[in-house]
Amino acid sequence: MIKPWFLLLLVNLSWGVFSIACAAPDSDSPKTELRDTTDFSASTARQANAAFDAQRAFAALKKQCEFGPRPPGSAAHRETQNYLFSELQKYANNAELQPHVYKAKTATLHLNNILAEFGTPSGETMLLAAHWDTRPIADHDPKPENRDKPILGANDGASGVAILLEMARVFKEHPPPRRVVIVLFDGEDYGRTADDMFIGSRFFAKNLGKWKPDYGILLDMVGDKDLTLPMERYSWTANREFTEAIWNRAANLGLGPFQQRLGKAIMDDHVPLINVGIPMVDIIDFDYPYWHTIEDTVDKCSPKSLEIVATLVISIVYDGL
Ligand SMILES: [Zn+2]
Repeated sequence: MIKPWFLLLLVNLSWGVFSIACAAPDSDSPKTELRDTTDFSASTARQANAAFDAQRAFAALKKQCEFGPRPPGSAAHRETQNYLFSELQKYANNAELQPHVYKAKTATLHLNNILAEFGTPSGETMLLAAHWDTRPIADHDPKPENRDKPILGANDGASGVAILLEMARVFKEHPPPRRVVIVLFDGEDYGRTADDMFIGSRFFAKNLGKWKPDYGILLDMVGDKDLTLPMERYSWTANREFTEAIWNRAANLGLGPFQQRLGKAIMDDHVPLINVGIPMVDIIDFDYPYWHTIEDTVDKCSPKSLEIVATLVISIVYDGL
């Protein structure tokens, strides 16, 4: 799993050297175009970061919660899908639904991953992912009478999606110098056991087609007011250099919540992609007392946390690693 990332680094490095060595006056040559792209990235990263509006992102988090709990099969799930898809259609070069039917132990689910592409084809595709469904059962609620109720998922679901929606708006204003695919996975949090979870990401990983990414970042539970982000262990084990490069970038940017230590291994939507050989890193704050409880609500989240995570992702999108 480490190898593909080495290759990617080599490609990036060779581009870098190439562009400096080939600063020739022929403005029509592909070499100069490459140099311009590199210069463009550096300034655009700053502009894009300034354009990211944390209040707008937080409004997108709230808006999702206003639909109510959003488990597959509910009216709120359908309404949320329409909202997210129409938002992405406004900003993307192309946006599509990826429908799939899944027979869970207790129901047949009609699910949709929501996909959108941005930026300029550059030979590599970066995936940015989050899950848009919410859990139908608050099975970790301290009160037994709440454990069959659905969760609101302000942090577990809505936070990652909120960042990516606002980022989509920024990508339209400031097209990234690479192809970026946003995927909002459905059916992440459905089942009582892992058998009926990560359904959308498993389907995506088996049906990559034109969406096939070279590498990617998953955002999950990134809105907590008390943001703590150690390196997630599955990501680190599968792609250590990639994961450490991301946390090093966070340190260089002075983003304190990204802690330079290894955290827990967390089963999440990145694992099906890692299993088909795609380096995926999960940015997740699992130190969240309201996880899978009915208390996972908007008041536990903050615009500042969304902004911190967005700053890191924007830096990687525009400047690479
Ligand atoms: Zn969850």
